[in-house]
Amino acid sequence: MDDTNIVSEALVNGGFFVGRTWLRYLVVCGGAFLLFWVAFAKRLKHRRCQQTIPERRIQWIELKNSLLGVIFFMIPSVLATPLYLSGHIKLILDPSATSPWMIALSFVLFIIGADTWFYWTHRAMHDSRVYRFTHELHHISVQPSPLAGYAFSVFEGFVLGLYLPLVLLFVPINRVMLWVFVFWFSFLEAYVHLGFEILPRWVARNPISKYLGTAVFHDMHHENGAYNFGVYFTWWDRMMGTIHPDYTQRYEQVTEHPLAWRPEPEAEAPAAST
Ligand SMILES: [Zn+2]
Ligand SMILES: [Zn+2]
Repeated sequence: MDDTNIVSEALVNGGFFVGRTWLRYLVVCGGAFLLFWVAFAKRLKHRRCQQTIPERRIQWIELKNSLLGVIFFMIPSVLATPLYLSGHIKLILDPSATSPWMIALSFVLFIIGADTWFYWTHRAMHDSRVYRFTHELHHISVQPSPLAGYAFSVFEGFVLGLYLPLVLLFVPINRVMLWVFVFWFSFLEAYVHLGFEILPRWVARNPISKYLGTAVFHDMHHENGAYNFGVYFTWWDRMMGTIHPDYTQRYEQVTEHPLAWRPEPEAEAPAAST
């Protein structure tokens, strides 16, 4: 294949990647926004991660930055097209060529790797010497909404998007696992930026589920960028001492009442005695 064909193939691939990711973003993150920030915002007020409600213009900025962030996020995959065409990057195209168990195992290993990549690159971008140029844009939202899910600068989008082609360079992955991953990633981005906690109260203390990244966990990072650098899991923050000291307490405060809870109606003032 000559160079012109490689470039046109890369651009067509890029167009598909961006189009599909925009669609997933609009359906999953946009849907979560409409559900939690519009339709049930008042009804679920008791589950808000922060009680301060940001100005509406912030959500427009989040939308614009995420639509651009999707493009930046896809750049490494587009640049990797020649490696794919030359066979250096191997994607297993036949879904039946890999057993469901292997797909499940590769998914778990892939997200453990992705979490490690995210924790360390994210923590490095918080270094004051590079923060402004790499990651400040994502922190425009102090009280994030799901629309901020893909709000990445060019640099951050590129670094995050690099993980997939890097892994594929060393390990062949079945296409089915990638489909599962991209859908899971959209739901995760919507959840951690939800601004509301939907998981039950016991999650932050249970010996297993306490390692899961939650909406409260990432929301606290937007509130104070010195803590909680992980997103899928909390273990790197626990190991490196960067977990917010008040995380468990805050999580339990936010989840004090179940999702379906309604405040008691105000008691009527007793009638004046005659
Ligand atoms: Zn965030
Ligand atoms: Zn950050």
